[in-house]
Amino acid sequence: MNDWSVLDVLPLGIVMVNRTFNVVRWNRWMEVYSGLSAQDVEGTSLFHHYPDLNRPSFLRSCRTVFTFGNVVYLSQKLHHYLFPFPLHAGQIGDAGGDMEMMQQSCSMTPVRNDEDEVELVAITVQDVTDSVLLERRLRLLNRVDALTGAYNRRFLDQRLEEEVDRHRRYDRSLSVAIMDLDHFKEINDEWGHPEGDRVLRALSAVAQEVIRSSDFFCRYGGEEFVALLPETSGCEAAELAERIRHRVMDTEFESGGRQYRVTASFGTATLGGDIGDAGELLAAADARLYRAKQAGRNRVVSGPA
Ligand code: GH3
Ligand code: MG
Ligand code: MG
Repeated sequence: MNDWSVLDVLPLGIVMVNRTFNVVRWNRWMEVYSGLSAQDVEGTSLFHHYPDLNRPSFLRSCRTVFTFGNVVYLSQKLHHYLFPFPLHAGQIGDAGGDMEMMQQSCSMTPVRNDEDEVELVAITVQDVTDSVLLERRLRLLNRVDALTGAYNRRFLDQRLEEEVDRHRRYDRSLSVAIMDLDHFKEINDEWGHPEGDRVLRALSAVAQEVIRSSDFFCRYGGEEFVALLPETSGCEAAELAERIRHRVMDTEFESGGRQYRVTASFGTATLGGDIGDAGELLAAADARLYRAKQAGRNRVVSGPA
């Protein structure tokens, strides 16, 4: 076993290049993920195989190591990857189409000769794809309601503050619509709680089909949802709520061979005038929702509460 053969059993890529970017060492891990054998790569220019690496940022990093002998880290968060290696089959579904390559954290370390001069740069390549995917999933779980897949209340509170800020700075319109299902307790009593859950999921999906992709549909609590509508005037918010109301009313459910429908009431509000912040916006919409309930349910109230 020579000094370097240990590099072939490491679970990370090791590439060593000299000052002219000729590859001196291409370890087993690099062979497996690149599909290029050490025999093919060693003794040739790194840029022959990876022309995209011949870019100012990479050359600058190498020069820093050769000239000053310090270590350079290439974080996945900034660079995503150094070597374009495909994802494993099992990762492609989780990556959801917007991550095409193995995510890598890399370092560039000086390797000195007997005269203590930096002779080579050793590049390490660590596959961090799984932790990036896990982090992404956790971030999603943190802002999505488990039952309906709508955004959760935590997300709504954060996003609403951000949108109110944006409204103030750029004078954009911002509206909300609160939807509360009518007599939902009776749905549970009549058809059972699991069936009630199914209705919540289905109607949440119906409403999400109606809103634009720039809107946010959030579960505010039990059977209450809030659509956060950036760049939407009061009239447009009322129209949107009407469209959701009709779609909800037209959705037919079946349980135990019997069919039934559910209705919903809505209150909408728009930032401006007396309504100056997130709290006032939600309170105004909620007051109008209350009026919709008082007036007989299955309706939208968008005027002053
Ligand atoms: P209203 O028309 O006045 O809104 O009547 P309501 O019965 O919908 O109003 P209320 O707030 O009194 O009851 C809401 C019901 O929603 C009570 C609860 O059983 C039900 N609910 C809340 N969360 C869930 C849930 O996650 N799943 C199911 N199945 N039911 C829920
Ligand atoms: Mg209700
Ligand atoms: Mg309610």
